[in-house]
Amino acid sequence: MLDYSFFAPRQIVFGWGRRAELATHAARFGRRALLVSGSRTLEANGSVEELSAKLRAAGLEVLSFQAATREPEVRDVDRLAAEFRALEPAGGDVVIAVGGGSTIDLAKAAAALATNRHGESVVDFLEGVGRGLQIMQPPLPLIALPTTAGTGAEATKNAVISSNTHAALKGDSVTAANPIPPYKKSLRSELMVPSLVLVDPELTVTLPPGVTALTGMDAITQLIESYISRRATPIPQALCVQGLKLAIPALPIAVQEGSSRAAREAMAHAALLSGIALANSGLGFAHGVAAALGVTCQIPHGLACAVLLPAALHVNLSVCTRQFAELERLFDPDCGHDTVAANAFIERIESLCALLEIPSRLRDLGVRQDQLAELVPGSRGNSMSGNPRDLSDQKLTQLIEGLW
Ligand SMILES: [Zn+2]
Repeated sequence: MLDYSFFAPRQIVFGWGRRAELATHAARFGRRALLVSGSRTLEANGSVEELSAKLRAAGLEVLSFQAATREPEVRDVDRLAAEFRALEPAGGDVVIAVGGGSTIDLAKAAAALATNRHGESVVDFLEGVGRGLQIMQPPLPLIALPTTAGTGAEATKNAVISSNTHAALKGDSVTAANPIPPYKKSLRSELMVPSLVLVDPELTVTLPPGVTALTGMDAITQLIESYISRRATPIPQALCVQGLKLAIPALPIAVQEGSSRAAREAMAHAALLSGIALANSGLGFAHGVAAALGVTCQIPHGLACAVLLPAALHVNLSVCTRQFAELERLFDPDCGHDTVAANAFIERIESLCALLEIPSRLRDLGVRQDQLAELVPGSRGNSMSGNPRDLSDQKLTQLIEGLW
């Protein structure tokens, strides 16, 4: 029985060197460009200034904003949204985000808050915290130029925002005596999907090997988790197949030989596909636990996903044998019956992690034993709800302890 909905960014422009077309596209949207940049490397080597110059030459006024280098926090979003609001944005303004997933998420959230003035802070709109307000007005139009190949944030409808302070918030149920603990939550609305996604893989050639490896593993984790998600549907699954076929062989090359155009193109394309897939299908165990590791132990997203992916495969093997076998046959069509093929796929991913020197245990990331109990409730977010296998608290505790 076929029954599904599917959505994706309205326009995607993909190709080596195609950032040169940014000004032409931006000019269609407006007169003022609110340029949010998060890549210190591309600022230092002149790439960001080159984009600004082209925007000005196309008749746009350029206002520049620098994103912090951390994953976006409530205070970062509120600050940028206040700056946007102070500009009294109207028709003719376009936000341009140049950076990794953190910068794109920050810009997405601020673009949404700029036009949704019924909330004061982004907290008012976050899932599971605050006042539960919804994004009602279309955000400022957003053009996303990813400079890493990993999160797929350029194609998703949410922005992941964290709070690392125990600060109390204004509100009825939350008081100084009853503060909200640190969290990592989504601001989510289909209105938040970027208006235009411009992927120029050439922007990723300056990424150092370590960042290339971890962001690439994030994309691969997203492709696998979306493929097996309990909310998986046919179009995203087809995209996952294409993405994995490209990314699994390309990632080690992109890491070892950063200037390889073929490898950079493959990874940028796979990351984009992973964003489209996860926005439609959701994720699973690895992303669920990764969110908790981010909140409790400040482990960066890509590293957490990379460490957790092999475990996510073992956890779901009993209910996903056929799907893992399908994925293994992309690389080895004669790999035998489903059980053999599925195990070969897990070994393939484990070998990739070993080749990229991804740590295999949580203690290697600096996670303390006394933090493990906190990881269980922290893993129960939107991502975990897509995991194909139900995991009781007892089972989850056992798995997390086993990973330590
Ligand atoms: Zn991810």
